[in-house]
Amino acid sequence: MNGKVVVITGGSTGIGKAVAIECAKNQANVVILSIEDYEKAEGAVREIESYGRTVSYYKCDVSSEENVSEVFTKIISKYGRIDYAFNNAGIGPDGVRMQYKSLIELSEGEWDKVLEVNMKGIWLCMKYELMQMRKQKDGSIVNTASIGGYKMAPGFGAYGPSKAGVIALAELAALENSEYNIKVNCICPGPIKGTELSKNSSSANPDEEKILCEHVIPLKKMGVLSEVVNSVMFLFESTHTTGQKLFIDGGMHIK
Ligand code: NAD
Repeated sequence: MNGKVVVITGGSTGIGKAVAIECAKNQANVVILSIEDYEKAEGAVREIESYGRTVSYYKCDVSSEENVSEVFTKIISKYGRIDYAFNNAGIGPDGVRMQYKSLIELSEGEWDKVLEVNMKGIWLCMKYELMQMRKQKDGSIVNTASIGGYKMAPGFGAYGPSKAGVIALAELAALENSEYNIKVNCICPGPIKGTELSKNSSSANPDEEKILCEHVIPLKKMGVLSEVVNSVMFLFESTHTTGQKLFIDGGMHIK
């Protein structure tokens, strides 16, 4: 990845940060987009930089086309290209925590918020990445879906449908852009330990984690960040894999 440009949304925390560190270790130019103010993300940005080159940070709400278009204009004018993109920013079922709500309990606002960030945000970022990658006739995009987008979990509100949309978007974008040598794939993690999202989820409760490991996850353990990082790096470099959904879920999708 020496000197290549990688854009990572939600790259100052959790899964995004772990992937950003791996890219920095591989000498990529890392560009992070996130909703947080720079002051809040600065510690993470400095930590990522300590592994490689200087990191660029842009505050951006991925669900706003105005924000996304403005930020991508700045990225292209600074770097001139985008080699890899990891569209990973996302929120839980009620926008903050992994709180259980059935479809009939959901408010219109909760539905809209989750769909806007998790699904529309992926489309918007891809729109601007693909326009640049088409000019380059090269590029590799990985989007973060979830096992929840493949197997619906009752009580997860709009989260499952939003992530099902992310899987569909990867397939559609892969088909529409294959002639430009652009690969588009997605990852479907199961519960991964140690991120902001998972700290707020029911699986952070030791009793629930025990139930998950004993009865739900065939490999009987929670996922860890390094397993997600390895999958993203594999998909980034794939030359003959596109439109794929890669499960990092201990086998949950086959149960
Ligand atoms: P996280 O909360 O650490 O990361 C989410 C990131 O998205 C944060 O940096 C946040 O600032 C950013 N973000 C939120 N809304 C945004 C917006 N409107 N615009 C720009 N950035 C925004 O949690 P994580 O677990 O690392 O989540 C990363 C992705 O992984 C999410 O898409 C999540 O749905 C998915 N995922 C996580 C798990 C898990 O168990 N942790 C499992 C499956 C899928």
